Amino acid sequence: VQGLQGARVAILGLGRSGLSAARALVAGGAVPVCWDDNPAAREKAQAEGFECLDLLKSRAFADVARLIVSPGIPHLYPAPNPVIMAAQDAGVAVDNDIGLFFQSFATKGWDNFDQMPKVIAVTGSNGKSTTSALIHHILEYAGRPTQLAGNIGRGVLDIDPAIDGEVVVLELSSYQTDLARNLTPDVAVFTNLSPDHLDRHAGMGGYFAAKRRLFAEGGPDRAIIGVDEAEGRFLAGQLSEGAADDRVIRVSVDRKLAGLGWNVFARKGFLAEMRNGKQVASIDLRKVEGLPGSHNHQNACAAYAACRTLGFAPKVIEAAFHSFGGLPHRSQTVGELRGIRFVNDSKATNVDSAVKAVAAFQNIRWICGGLEKEGGLGDLAKPLETVRKAYVIGREAAQFAMKLGVEAEVCGTMDVAVARAVAEAEAGDVVLLAPAAASFDQYDSFERRGDDFIAQVQKFL
Ligand code: ADP
Repeated sequence: VQGLQGARVAILGLGRSGLSAARALVAGGAVPVCWDDNPAAREKAQAEGFECLDLLKSRAFADVARLIVSPGIPHLYPAPNPVIMAAQDAGVAVDNDIGLFFQSFATKGWDNFDQMPKVIAVTGSNGKSTTSALIHHILEYAGRPTQLAGNIGRGVLDIDPAIDGEVVVLELSSYQTDLARNLTPDVAVFTNLSPDHLDRHAGMGGYFAAKRRLFAEGGPDRAIIGVDEAEGRFLAGQLSEGAADDRVIRVSVDRKLAGLGWNVFARKGFLAEMRNGKQVASIDLRKVEGLPGSHNHQNACAAYAACRTLGFAPKVIEAAFHSFGGLPHRSQTVGELRGIRFVNDSKATNVDSAVKAVAAFQNIRWICGGLEKEGGLGDLAKPLETVRKAYVIGREAAQFAMKLGVEAEVCGTMDVAVARAVAEAEAGDVVLLAPAAASFDQYDSFERRGDDFIAQVQKFL
């Protein structure tokens, strides 16, 4: 971290990103003062030699230059966080690790523009990880130095200093974009918008506002915007107003984008790139095994557009698509038995992602349920043509099952759900885990839930 030499910097929350911020601050000559309500987390920080200080003590912020807040800590909603309020009362700026990253990562001012490291940031409700990983994969395939970090598992302050020509790909959640004081990517991607995390952002308006911060004035040189929702269309319109034609690339999977400007869309399994009304390139996505379903075609279009802004040829991107293996817990085929395919989409933690997962397959034995998100089950309460039957897990499985628009059996736990689905499935069926809910009523994380699904499936293989 640059620009904070000798300063005391408070850190609230000592999970992975908090500890990595503390280390980066020390490396940059600053002095971190750390706090976490959990004593075990504090002990871990102290074992690394970091000073811990109760940030609610009076005058705790007296000589502090900044407060760094972990993304897991609700700062305003459902209730204002008292430590953050104390910092604000003391006139201390509130920031997070993403803000520190952009403050320190110099992408401007290099002599040779082409060799300048660049940052591509990806946000949106769904498809962030897949799109970020796909961009990273295309860059690697094309031999360009690249690093992947952010919400995808590696802290942004853990990445190595960039080398000439390197592209850093960052996946950013709304929790991360909400607080960062500096957000200056060279290319920013907005995949789509659907209800999620509403409790933390005081509803849809606050949620969209958090994501939109990535596109504020003075922001990205290029913006890639999914325009299948009204919010995306609004954002694209706003950004392209008065700007050069090629600043905004619109992406869609449900409409043919006509007119002037730069567009990438997918229809009937084909990706098309259009520039000023002319088709520049086309790719048959139906042959790309690692990206099944129209939701993945949206991710492919966004990643394609991001790589086009860096000057990669369509043929190179197409070749890279074919070697993309996908990510674990997203449309991941984990086995086959008697013509029955087992797919782990544990990452479908909200309604829209589950709707998309369910639309990507046929003859589905659907394992769903868990901690229901605010806002209800939306389209999942309607009949779903591709689903043969639902097998519902979760502590509230009975209530969840009642709200579904398809035939549903209350199973409660994963072992029962998988066993029942296997018992009833026929050749040609797909047993799909796409919960449409958070996992925390039964698991630590969506990864553990997906691992459990795989373990239960393996008993039958
Ligand atoms: P995120 O990082 O935004 O959560 P992921 O790429 O991890 O996104 O995908 C999460 C889940 O959302 C997947 O399991 C899949 O079911 C669904 N999904 C992936 N891409 C999209 C998309 N473009 N639109 C809607 N749902 C998607």
